[in-house]
Amino acid sequence: MNAEEGSSAQTTEQKNVETKYIFVTGGVVSSLGKGIISSSLARLLLSRGYKVTIQKFDPYINIDPGTLNPYEHGECYVTVDGHEADLDLGHYERFTSIHTTRANNITTGRIYQNVIDKERRGDYLGKTVQIIPHITDEIKRSVKLLARQGDYDYVITEIGGTVGDIESTPFLEAVRQLRWELGRNALCVHLTYVPYLKAAKELKTKPTQHSVKLLQQAGIQPDILVLRTEKELPASMCRKVAQFCNVSPEAVIQSLDAPTIYEVPLMMHSQGLDRIVLEKTGEVPQGEPDLEAWNHFLRKLEGAEKEIHIGLVGKYVELQDAYKSISESLSHAAAYCDRKLKLVYIHSEKLTEDNVEEKLAGMDGVIIAPGFGQRGIEGKFIALRWLREHDVPTFGICLGMQCMVIEYARNVLRMADANSTEMDPHTSHNVIDLMEEQKSISNMGGTMRLGAYDCVLKEDSLAAGAYGRTDIRERHRHRFEFNEDYRARFEEAGMRCVGENPDTHLVEVVEVPGKRWYLGTQYHPEYQSTVLHPNPLFVSFMKAAVSYSERK
Ligand code: GLN
Repeated sequence: MNAEEGSSAQTTEQKNVETKYIFVTGGVVSSLGKGIISSSLARLLLSRGYKVTIQKFDPYINIDPGTLNPYEHGECYVTVDGHEADLDLGHYERFTSIHTTRANNITTGRIYQNVIDKERRGDYLGKTVQIIPHITDEIKRSVKLLARQGDYDYVITEIGGTVGDIESTPFLEAVRQLRWELGRNALCVHLTYVPYLKAAKELKTKPTQHSVKLLQQAGIQPDILVLRTEKELPASMCRKVAQFCNVSPEAVIQSLDAPTIYEVPLMMHSQGLDRIVLEKTGEVPQGEPDLEAWNHFLRKLEGAEKEIHIGLVGKYVELQDAYKSISESLSHAAAYCDRKLKLVYIHSEKLTEDNVEEKLAGMDGVIIAPGFGQRGIEGKFIALRWLREHDVPTFGICLGMQCMVIEYARNVLRMADANSTEMDPHTSHNVIDLMEEQKSISNMGGTMRLGAYDCVLKEDSLAAGAYGRTDIRERHRHRFEFNEDYRARFEEAGMRCVGENPDTHLVEVVEVPGKRWYLGTQYHPEYQSTVLHPNPLFVSFMKAAVSYSERK
């Protein structure tokens, strides 16, 4: 570490002397829901009045997940400052309503890139650059940098991957060092899995014991164990785990499969997770967390009896994580409308003129999903024509909005080959075209129009009515846009451009007045829907779907 870095690290420590760091690791298998446990803990600490943020380290070499195919890693989430991030950041925001930024999601690729940039600048003064200390120092710097950005009481850091993975090793080493340096201002929550063997009719804790041993080999003694299980764990089993793993019995917490992820904070609270975290980090727990609004949402979510059928037309329907933020936004909106969401994924590649009626007739509302490329696009046009002509509440998001525009051009404005230049660079009606500033860009990573932009809505629009205001700010992730040259022709034919960016005048929202609810957004409202603040457009769409379902 050079002199300058040393002094800035010292300032960090002085300023955030009381920031506490919670590291969440996982063992046995992946996909146990570290993100949900981290989010639930953050929710509980926030509800007790602490200032909290959550960070995720992803142990892959991509700089960010922006260039990853959704089949690889599910949805790409976008932060306000335009960072393409892991979908767990979506959970963090939905549970906590705090805004995350690029400092909240860091990959191995970014750590290495920063270190290599420093090496090229000569910052290491001739030293051999190594995983320890240079990579681990960069990881530690990233943890503390986040704390400094917001003067947080707690920074929760989720370490992606599973203990024992080669990729996670430098992160675990950094955690080991930080725990040593920070004393009781740091603790480790380890999440494992307790399988139930049907044939033996037994729950097995051995994988948990092995996983804790691996963590101990890396020099980390977990303070709290969260055991994922499909069956209730007997108290004797938790005591046994405590004994084998050097953890106090009350700090062995079970995480039973829940009917909804939004119950997990309550399940964790009922077993004292927040209290134990506070006590172990030297805080005195006072009273109970204020979960009134959270419980109100849960009562609505779980109390809803009448079903609402929403179709989601997209090409990644086998992989529901690809549309995570949309499905969660719909679930928030349905709950607040006292409806039980029945979300039907409809494969756009398999939609034809022959089956469109059969697939869509039962829907009370339909979302046309975002996406990239030609695959499945014709199915979206077929769906849109049917939905528009049958006046079903329809919500197009990003590519979905672009498809609304193209379908309208083809079938109402009679421009038969209208298209986006993304799909057909030679179309004679490029109603959706590449943004001017995108034309010279050849790099794929982080080069789209990303993050939050202002949008001004027309006062008399459906969108303004939904938001209850005309100045909004939503997040984007796209390269193509509505072609301004066609605006007048669309407006004359009945599709209005009702939202635009005040600086660039890019069209952000289109709607067809006179329809029940037919609206498309160039932005992604799903990135800003949280449990306590559902996105107004999703709520408005859901209300339209509810009233449509009652008319039928
Ligand atoms: N492919 C479209 C574009 O780049 C839409 C992107 C999206 O749906 N996120 O503009």
